Amino acid sequence: MSRKFSCNPKTIKDAINANLLPILTVSGVTGGVVLGVILRYSRDGPWSKREVMYVGYIGELFLRALKALIIPLIVSSLVSAIGSLDLSLSKKIGLRAVAYYMTTTVLAVVLGIILVVSIHPGKGSDEGITKAGEARSVYTPDLLMDLPRNLFPPNLIQACFETYKTVIVEPKIDENDTRIEEWKRKYNWTEGTLPPKSEWDIGSDHSRALNIMGLVSFATVLGLALSTLGAKGKPLLSFFQSLSDASMVITSWLIWISPIGILFLVASMMIEMEDFSVMLGQLGLYFGTVVLGIFIHGFLVLPALYTIFTRKLPFRFLANMTQAYITAFATASSSGTLPVTFQCLEEKNKIDPRVTRFVIPIGATINMDGTALYEAVAAIFIAQVRGMALTIGQVVAISITATAAAIGAAGIPQAGLVTMVMVLDVVGLPAEDMTLIIAVDWLLDRFRTMINVLGDSIGAGLVYELSKKELEQMNINANGDVERPSNEIAMDTVESSKM
Ligand code: ASP
Repeated sequence: MSRKFSCNPKTIKDAINANLLPILTVSGVTGGVVLGVILRYSRDGPWSKREVMYVGYIGELFLRALKALIIPLIVSSLVSAIGSLDLSLSKKIGLRAVAYYMTTTVLAVVLGIILVVSIHPGKGSDEGITKAGEARSVYTPDLLMDLPRNLFPPNLIQACFETYKTVIVEPKIDENDTRIEEWKRKYNWTEGTLPPKSEWDIGSDHSRALNIMGLVSFATVLGLALSTLGAKGKPLLSFFQSLSDASMVITSWLIWISPIGILFLVASMMIEMEDFSVMLGQLGLYFGTVVLGIFIHGFLVLPALYTIFTRKLPFRFLANMTQAYITAFATASSSGTLPVTFQCLEEKNKIDPRVTRFVIPIGATINMDGTALYEAVAAIFIAQVRGMALTIGQVVAISITATAAAIGAAGIPQAGLVTMVMVLDVVGLPAEDMTLIIAVDWLLDRFRTMINVLGDSIGAGLVYELSKKELEQMNINANGDVERPSNEIAMDTVESSKM
């Protein structure tokens, strides 16, 4: 039956009520842009860092509140989701999710490569590109080996605030050092200069960032263990289920403050941002290539996959996620957006929490299509600027490392820029060349975070549709009684919290 459009004030009021949050959020973004532009052009000189901090203060508070939910949400939701499924179903859901993550990441990289090779934004010179910032000193094998290291955190408490990282330190050399002769022979090294980086000493350090990979891996294993324990595991499972539901309730409260938080985050971004003149010329073309790729991937390729596998049109699903995209854009962090992503998926798209709470924490950690696409485009763009002709082998190497770099990037602002070093390294470009693209990275980061979140969400929707029958089967207990699906129960909790 087709619904007739009516201008009845009651219908309009109902429509506004039903979409109040997206309306408020979009107003928040618009208000932020207007406020930011007014403040920025209200004076001649630039704004100091302190002044920008004052403007963004409310936004910062909102972001801190969101971040506070990351640990309780990911740990409790993974443990409770995996713990309540039987092992074979966990395996199926897990495999489906990983197959989706890998396929879409590779598709994103390939799309990026096709675009950057055909548009050719790097014209063979860095004229007009201002180098900004500093390159970081890292070594590709160390970056790659740190990934599994962080999967096995030796101390879970430490994993809540620190991530392991290998550092290479300048070797201390004294006259009797036996390495001196060898370096002279091998590298023609002269005393008093620095030895090649491969000969530097290896040290360990920690960065002050949540080791989300370690927590995800531990929670997954704990969930699996609880599901094999059966009745004995019930008390702990119930604890995590309650924690997970309570975190979702807090999220639903927080979400109503998000329009205000977003308003101030966007306003401070408008004041702080670099002059748009950097977008003119080559860097603008590079920016356009990444954004075009990201949008084709997020709004054509992924929805098409969704439709092919679920035989459903994706528009409603995508529209229901608006709140999550906007939060991703405003915070530039897919981990920070995690609570909102959950909320949109479970409350608006009615995806079973056993799926969302299983696949979303993992997706937010390893599935970053936007980042993967950007890594590939950026590396090839820099090679083009440097006038380097890449062989097919090198392009393949870029694709593989871009995928690894996206998996390794944390869901925090500009994490992709750090792992970019290994993509450059694989084609022999120096890490310093990263500085060529830093000027526009702050904005690109926001777009790629949006697509990272969108990719995770479509993944959850797709895995849910593919696992629907098995989940329903699970709801039919041994006596043939139909249990209530846990999403209904979770929804009740969230609903009642609003009253
Ligand atoms: N900021 C991105 C995210 O949180 C990661 C990146 O590409 O830098 O998903």
